[in-house]
Amino acid sequence: MRRHAIFFLPSLLLFFLVHAGTNPSDSSSITPINWDLYHSSDDLMEQIHSLVHRHPDKLSIELIKAGNKGYNAELNVVTYYRGGRETDDRSNFRILLTFGQHGRELITSELAFRILSILSEEQFLPKTNGVTLNNTLDKVVIKLVPIENLNGRKRVEAGDLCERRNGRGVDLNRNWGVDWGKKEKDYDPSEENPGTGPFSEPETQIMRKLAISFDPDVWINVHSGMEALFMPYDHKNVTPEGLPSQKMRTLLEKLNKFHCHNRCMIGSGGGSVGYLAHGTATDYIYDVVKTPMAFTFEIFGDSQTSSRDCFKMFNPVDLPNFKRVLNDWSAAFFTIFKLGPLQLDENSSKAADKWVSIDEYLDGYLVERKSRYGKNMEVIDVGMQEIKTYFRLFLLSSVLLMFMFCSRIAKSKYGRNSIPVMPIGGSSHSV
Ligand SMILES: [Zn+2]
Repeated sequence: MRRHAIFFLPSLLLFFLVHAGTNPSDSSSITPINWDLYHSSDDLMEQIHSLVHRHPDKLSIELIKAGNKGYNAELNVVTYYRGGRETDDRSNFRILLTFGQHGRELITSELAFRILSILSEEQFLPKTNGVTLNNTLDKVVIKLVPIENLNGRKRVEAGDLCERRNGRGVDLNRNWGVDWGKKEKDYDPSEENPGTGPFSEPETQIMRKLAISFDPDVWINVHSGMEALFMPYDHKNVTPEGLPSQKMRTLLEKLNKFHCHNRCMIGSGGGSVGYLAHGTATDYIYDVVKTPMAFTFEIFGDSQTSSRDCFKMFNPVDLPNFKRVLNDWSAAFFTIFKLGPLQLDENSSKAADKWVSIDEYLDGYLVERKSRYGKNMEVIDVGMQEIKTYFRLFLLSSVLLMFMFCSRIAKSKYGRNSIPVMPIGGSSHSV
């Protein structure tokens, strides 16, 4: 037995050496984090802090903290604005970007750092005209969250390579208020635990406040696991109707062509990804914060890899792919910085040209009054039709009165031979 073991062990060792190198998709091998390519979260935040401090004319950073039930979270928000200090001037195009919402998707935070480096002009986009870029960036304010889920990311760095949830096991992209808590048949709490209620998690509370106060024109939630450009909705398999939605799709089609080599899936998250997701950030930002362009980008995925080999499935593991992902996607973001404001201009000029009928105006007015006075004004719904009718009658009788008045003038001017106008009684007093 012993002699057999002596021959057996070296050949087993040889087997593993050969197969570890030639068969990366072997489900038994788990790829560790490649620290030659990736920053640790501490290192990344340190690098971002020093970058910001080198460029106080363009960048600033703030730390926001929140916590409940003994669980605390903190979130760094970097602001880019060429004037040095952000103003409330609404003529600027406002962009809110978040990265690292899921712990295991390390590549997304590396992209955040790359985008900040280009914004600071310490790094440059290949094939880009500096003057055009400056013109574009003169008109934007960007708020960027490099690591939304720092606690979850720490767990990944400690060896829990498949963790996507936050530090207490809640999926931050299921914890928002639109369609929260609905569970599909294949619901897996180790992936999608939505928390004890909408906005139960400090990270989500911070992000929601940030989104409402900043009120962006564009929102992008950056993930990895596949290559896709998603627009609302995640909780149903359709996209919103109308022109603004078509414009979102047009923008995504351009990005797919120019930066994703037409490989990216496009459409509603719920319709394209193969499952519906409830309580997601992008659905809330679109439906409740009313951000006109709200997206979820998936920037990399290795579908050939075993789902247990999470670092490799969600992140490029070799230098060429790592570089390619960062180059392609930083270029895609700068295309959005450029095309986004143009798209919004078109939207707003269309809105101004739109003809508003009396009925639409009244509806809008009454709804606004109703929401201002709350439930006490619900009675107005009952009277809405009558009020509209009276308003129409009032307009009609005013026109008739004007007509009578003009006729009288004409009659007195051209003598008594003209045909007398029949007086119309009553209707002018109906209001
Ligand atoms: Zn994700």
